Amino acid sequence: MLDPKSPQKDAYQLILEAIDSHIYKPGDRLVESDLADRFGMSRTPIREALQRLETQSLLTRDGRSLIVASLDHTQMAELYVVRGELEGLAARLAARHATPEEVRVLRDMVEADRSLLGDPAALARANKRFHKQIHLASHNRFLVQQLDLVHRSMALLATTSLAADGRGDDALAEHDAIVRAIEEGNGDAADKALRDHISKAFVTRLKLDAVADEA
Ligand SMILES: [Zn+2]
Repeated sequence: MLDPKSPQKDAYQLILEAIDSHIYKPGDRLVESDLADRFGMSRTPIREALQRLETQSLLTRDGRSLIVASLDHTQMAELYVVRGELEGLAARLAARHATPEEVRVLRDMVEADRSLLGDPAALARANKRFHKQIHLASHNRFLVQQLDLVHRSMALLATTSLAADGRGDDALAEHDAIVRAIEEGNGDAADKALRDHISKAFVTRLKLDAVADEA
């Protein structure tokens, strides 16, 4: 039974979510008929969704096959630069424009997410919700659109930096500092705290990748 509150997802959203949750990883081949079976859809909407994802560079060609794209080191570094700038701006605007209720939601998220330490996958999902809430609290729809683009490309990173030893604890402490700055209405501090957070996540990812390359 479908939840009447949640609108039916289209093929594009379903495939994007499957990439985001690493059901399909970078390098995996996507086959139209398999996807149609998996999602109980006809092949036409699946084909259209695959074309759209290819246009957005989330899928790429390998001979005649469509595979999930991957980001090389340079692209990943470029993505983190943009992410740091845009997320910092979102925090700065949130410090100015967030409603008391939105700030309350952010505070509640920081407190609730402590119970997820030790579960990197759950922590990664909670992390997405937290950052999305800051984007929305910026009350700038153009910024939200740009951040959605950045986060769509983040789905192409094969691992979550939150899986690294001790990173979960540190990340939550950083989230706490971000929310405190927003609570105080201090845009400069919120911007800096969020940039620091993204920078540390990037350093963690570079270390994770260095270890993976040794293996
Ligand atoms: Zn975070």
